Amino acid sequence: MRSRDPVALTQALLGGDRRALPRLLSVVEAGGDGAREVGRRVYARGTGAFTVGITGPPGAGKSTLTNQLIGALRQRGVEVAVLAVDPSSPYTGGALLGDRVRMVDHAGDPGVYVRSMATRGHLGGLALAVPEVVRVLDAAGFGRILIETVGVGQSEVEIAGAADTTVVVLTPGAGDAVQANKAGLLEVADVFVINKADHPQVSELERDLAFMMELTSWPDGWRPPVVRSIAVTGTGTIDVLEAISRHEEHLASSGVLDQRRAGRALGELRRVLIARLEQRADAMLDQPGHAGLRDAVVGRQIDPWSAAEAILGQLD
Ligand code: GDP
Repeated sequence: MRSRDPVALTQALLGGDRRALPRLLSVVEAGGDGAREVGRRVYARGTGAFTVGITGPPGAGKSTLTNQLIGALRQRGVEVAVLAVDPSSPYTGGALLGDRVRMVDHAGDPGVYVRSMATRGHLGGLALAVPEVVRVLDAAGFGRILIETVGVGQSEVEIAGAADTTVVVLTPGAGDAVQANKAGLLEVADVFVINKADHPQVSELERDLAFMMELTSWPDGWRPPVVRSIAVTGTGTIDVLEAISRHEEHLASSGVLDQRRAGRALGELRRVLIARLEQRADAMLDQPGHAGLRDAVVGRQIDPWSAAEAILGQLD
């Protein structure tokens, strides 16, 4: 698959050739016309793969757990794609290392595909790119798509929180429950995993978490279960998987899955619309015809709201 042509790559993928994935996803990540072309062709072709977000503080064991989950899902015959969103420096360490660690275990298995995405400095762009990448992975026929992000910034939390089921991974002894609360992780959690359960202070974290959960309401009629895991040995991986499955069943039987997906589709439309309007605003502002208006705002002869009205007035 040597072509970089978005149309040829998309056709190859939809024809079942997953070797097209790396190049196709590079086209999508690059944005622009190529990405739009792929997006148009792939949008209606998804099979509705179930997405699982995995988030939590750095070092909580997300990658290790993800690796275990891949293994457990493969044993059940499920094909898995992983999208690891790495907010560390754009082109270095984290992403590449993450890939290597996982690849060691699942290299050569055509039922597993792992992709890292760096944030490239601008998370707004990432929030737009992630759903596009997920749709390509869905169209490639993977039954489960795991989206792993570090739960520190609001945007990363939102990305993982935009999955069908969101797993929040915490560790004992790190004041994690309080931190997680601050980072907004509690609101997005459908399943809590207390990883590194081989460490002391497990019950302290469980108690802190239970306390904080008392203060939270669960509008979807689902109270997140708290599951212990030791990801380095694989202990508890099956429990995590079962908690995810139970949530999946709840989503399906309550109708919340359709609601959430509809909400996400409209939220994405809104984000795209805002991004496009922002581009137009920048272009309008740069127009030579508005030089006088720009100078007037700088010189305090006209206030920014009135100037914006004047510019928008021309649009109408
Ligand atoms: P991430 O940053 O959340 O992806 O965390 P990693 O998966 O890279 O794990 C961070 C470190 O914790 C690694 O050295 C892991 O080997 C270790 N680790 C992961 N899970 C466990 C666990 O359950 N118990 C112990 N003791 N160490 C773990």
